[in-house]
Amino acid sequence: MSTSIRFKARTRALVRRWSGAPLTWLIVGGFVLMAATAIGTALTVDRFRRSAIESGRASLESTVRLLARHFDREFADFSVLQKSIIVELESHDIDSPDTFRSEMATLAMHEVLRAKASGWSDIAGANVFDSNGVLINSSKRWPVADIKISDRGYFNRLKNDPASQEEVEVVPGRFGSGQAIVFARRISGPRGEFLGVVSRAITPDLLEEFFASIGLSGESSIAMHHQNGQLLARVPHVEAMIGQNFHRGSAEQMAVFDRTFVTTQLASPVDGKDRLVASQMLTDEPLVVVATRTLDATLVTWRTQTKFFVTVAVVSICLLVLTLYLIFRQMTRRLSIEKQRLDTAMNTMTQGLLMFDQDERLIVCNRRYIEMYGLSADVVKPGAYFRDVIKHRHDTGSFSGDVDSYCDGILGTVGRLQSSVVETRDGRLIEIRNQPSASGGWLATHEDVTERVRADERIAHMAHYDALTDLPNRVLMRGHLERRVAELAEGKPFAILYIDVDEFKGVNDSLGHEIGDELLRQVANRLRSCVGPHDLVARLGGDEFAVIKADTGDRAELMVLADQILKTLRASVYCKGQEISIDASIGIAIAPEHGDNLEELLKCADLAMYAAKSDGRRTFRFFAAEYDAKVRQRRQLGFDLRQALANSEFEVHYQPLVDLAANVVTGCEALLRWHHPERGMVSPAEFIPLAEETGLIGEIGEWVLKQACTEAANWPGQIRVAVNVSPVQFRSKTLALNVAAALNESGLAPGRLELEVTETVLIRDDEEALTILQQLRELGVRIALDDFGTGYSSLSYLHRFPFDKIKIDRSFISDIGEPEDSSPIVQAVVHMAAARHMATTAEGVETEAQREILRRLGCSQMQGYLFSPAIPASRLKRLLSAQQASAA
Ligand code: C2E
Ligand code: MG
Ligand code: MG
Repeated sequence: MSTSIRFKARTRALVRRWSGAPLTWLIVGGFVLMAATAIGTALTVDRFRRSAIESGRASLESTVRLLARHFDREFADFSVLQKSIIVELESHDIDSPDTFRSEMATLAMHEVLRAKASGWSDIAGANVFDSNGVLINSSKRWPVADIKISDRGYFNRLKNDPASQEEVEVVPGRFGSGQAIVFARRISGPRGEFLGVVSRAITPDLLEEFFASIGLSGESSIAMHHQNGQLLARVPHVEAMIGQNFHRGSAEQMAVFDRTFVTTQLASPVDGKDRLVASQMLTDEPLVVVATRTLDATLVTWRTQTKFFVTVAVVSICLLVLTLYLIFRQMTRRLSIEKQRLDTAMNTMTQGLLMFDQDERLIVCNRRYIEMYGLSADVVKPGAYFRDVIKHRHDTGSFSGDVDSYCDGILGTVGRLQSSVVETRDGRLIEIRNQPSASGGWLATHEDVTERVRADERIAHMAHYDALTDLPNRVLMRGHLERRVAELAEGKPFAILYIDVDEFKGVNDSLGHEIGDELLRQVANRLRSCVGPHDLVARLGGDEFAVIKADTGDRAELMVLADQILKTLRASVYCKGQEISIDASIGIAIAPEHGDNLEELLKCADLAMYAAKSDGRRTFRFFAAEYDAKVRQRRQLGFDLRQALANSEFEVHYQPLVDLAANVVTGCEALLRWHHPERGMVSPAEFIPLAEETGLIGEIGEWVLKQACTEAANWPGQIRVAVNVSPVQFRSKTLALNVAAALNESGLAPGRLELEVTETVLIRDDEEALTILQQLRELGVRIALDDFGTGYSSLSYLHRFPFDKIKIDRSFISDIGEPEDSSPIVQAVVHMAAARHMATTAEGVETEAQREILRRLGCSQMQGYLFSPAIPASRLKRLLSAQQASAA
């Protein structure tokens, strides 16, 4: 394909594609401009041509008018003269040709003639001929030459036709060489009889000389004709033409001699050239003045102008074409780059794209669409009808509906934005969006939204369901509750059961999260098994669950449900080979009995659950108004606790630790006491957890530590002081520093300070805790493991950190001495401690029997009301002094 054909094809394609776009307007505008330039130039040239011809004509016209006037005057003078000669001749009483001849052929008459014609420029002057045409007198010569004119036409016409008074004719001259224009007048007798002729003759040269003096340009001519068409004289002179008759040929040519005044254009009979012609007849003579100019000469200036105009126009058009070409090339380049980009963009799109025109024909289709439905590019291509595309999809299996009704549906809504998601046979979800286009068609995008929709569904599910148990979460539960609350108006009661798995934290921390998670899943399944289809089980987070029991406010019914839940949960759970027994605390709020608004009901259920917990767990409680008061009280206590340190409301009491073998006090445990200004003595079991919750324990613990060290520094001998350290203090990381400071300030020997920690310290963050314990050990202080046996895996801690002492929890001591008591456990602990060189302290020894058994079991120390409860420092001092005294 040649470049130009390719270019044309490309141009056509682009113009088609971008029709209505600037490119079309550019091309149309360019052509209009070129046409306008060409037409304008042609019109101007034509107008200039006409005006050149017009002015040529006008100039010829004025020339002939001037000449006619000139000759009219000149010939008028001449005829006056001629007439006066005739009058002169006729006045001689001549009545016959003979007398005329005799009268005329005299010298005297010659003199008269000579005088009259003295100013004439004629060749032969005035001549008189008798009735036979013989020259009888002349103004020029006397005697006259022998000349006869009886053969001349003009003579015979004057002689024979009385009506003919004057004749003009060109004849071969008889007075000299060349032609002569003869003007002849008849001389009549008194009765009109022909006497003779008086004539004069001018040579054409004379006229031509005059014409030449006007100074016409080369291509012009001036001629004098006889009215009958005979050429008398002409400039430029053409000898052969003089005397020729031109009264012939075209109508225009004839008109020159037939009409008084003519301007016309005709092919010259002289030289065949096209000429502008102006002619004017003389008033008194049968003569016509004719001026001509060749069209060529007339149009010389016009031609120069035309050349100039045409050149300018051609140059303008060329420049225009060049400009258009450059713009066009620039635009086609840009368009083709844009098209390339568009193609690239379209074909890398993740969406299938189709564009239809208003006739439902495909304009654009990208590769993705073809691939998406496995179609044939030979069918789905620009120009294909929408219906055919859908039919092809139907035939190839990616469309299963009715082609016609689908197409009618789409075509009926072309003007509106439309979006729908359809599912393909292979289960993919395709979002189809039809968007109206400006041209009356529409743009369709097909996007595979399977992943997105599934992800959305997953996200929506995740937003409303707990990932671990797949139970509805708090958000979904709230939505559910909102609907239930709204239904209260219809008289439909319901209940919220808040379920907290007791001591789940311990399981999780001690057995690991995997088992903890599995436990929660099993709890979820068990809860599901306890409720009906209209009830909802939700996980609120951690070990907290909720059951929304629909359509009941009946306590008896709810009690049955709560019992059933507790029973179901209590059944042993097997998680990854571990048998775990769990229990729960349940709080129940009934709507509308306990409230008719969501927040209120949730709070009630929560309070009831805490009440169940504080009432020893493993049970359920219905909400009661006093729970609310308890919470408020607790909050108040929190505020008061903040003030307690500043108001010196704290006091440290000391409970002696007695050596079982020697029965002497070897140490004392510092136990904090709070004298509340209104409530009196508040138990540490109540305010220590509060202080831990609020973070005040750090400050309080530091105070107790200092107080105890200072106090112990004054005690006698080797009596140690034991100080309780909360796990929260452990986490503050300044514990070792505080201990060192307290020892330093009090001057107490580090070996006399014993720190009591519970296993929770180790559960949280083993490595960190072990590091801190190590630091404390390096200070020289002793570490005791408090409340041993209450946790889950106390034994495992004994392997990990070499405690100095184990304090066996009161719960193992209280039943000692009874049948099936805990003494084997105590025994085991004592053995294990002994093996590791650890001391053992039995907590809460209240009876002599207990003491006895413990002593036998090999326990090294006891603490309990049997010997002494915790007492103020002053009393302890007295006790220690007494002991010292008795020892001494
Ligand atoms: P704990 O460390 O196990 O302290 C022993 C608790 O048992 C004390 O209760 C004590 O008065 C009580 N007790 C001692 N002998 C007997 C007995 O024979 N029978 C009965 N039933 N109880 C006996 P208390 O003083 O009410 O302290 C409770 C807990 O509060 C302590 O348990 C300790 O964990 C904590 N605590 C007390 N003072 C402090 C303190 O200054 N700092 C920290 N972090 N915790 C403290
Ligand atoms: Mg203790
Ligand atoms: Mg204890």
